[in-house]
Amino acid sequence: MNRHSGAILVLSGPSGAGKSSLINKIKDHIGPTYFSISTTTRGKREGEEEGVHYYFVDVDEFKSDIEQEMFLEYAVVHGNYYGTSLGPVKKALKEGKLVIFDIDVQGHDAVQNRLSDITTSVFITTPSLEELKRRLHNRSTDSEEVIERRIEMAKREVQRISEYDFLIVNDTLEEAAEILISIAKAARMKIPTLQINEFVQTWEAS
Ligand code: 5GP
Repeated sequence: MNRHSGAILVLSGPSGAGKSSLINKIKDHIGPTYFSISTTTRGKREGEEEGVHYYFVDVDEFKSDIEQEMFLEYAVVHGNYYGTSLGPVKKALKEGKLVIFDIDVQGHDAVQNRLSDITTSVFITTPSLEELKRRLHNRSTDSEEVIERRIEMAKREVQRISEYDFLIVNDTLEEAAEILISIAKAARMKIPTLQINEFVQTWEAS
């Protein structure tokens, strides 16, 4: 009963809150995992690699994937399309892996609608708006206009924290990573409704 057919961990939060650094820090400490690689129409940032950070496609290709129902969910974020491909997620779940999504609040909503019984969600943010601004400027990979858009978006996103199971305030990376490791381990143990029924039947019969 302690091992089952995979689970989902959704991570959301403003760009600049440190989600990627956190994922990197915890990845060797949480067991068999699949980090979902999204498809996006946004331009590649410096240092990003095709098939590692994202699959970079143009709008036509993205729309064709939508028509072919390739996505578990997709959304327009900061004016660009972002989507999670269904195929690799299904495969990883079947292999009993913890599937980790770095998706926005709209994506979280869609995943909860379709797969809530195996999903655990975490909202990750900076201790303050001021700190988010500082981090976005320090990262300096984006133009001033893009940073402004991300800040406005962050203000809207934090209004939806209550939709998540957990909130992590990423003040120090070490501490935030420790909390996320605990949540990831617990997420793996979430029991899908069907398995509860099966377990109860077996438990009563034996
Ligand atoms: P960035 O451009 O900074 O990599 O990501 C911008 C936002 O898009 C982040 O909030 C990130 O979580 C979100 N995002 C990335 N991939 C996906 C996806 O596949 N679906 C959705 N709904 N959001 C995504």
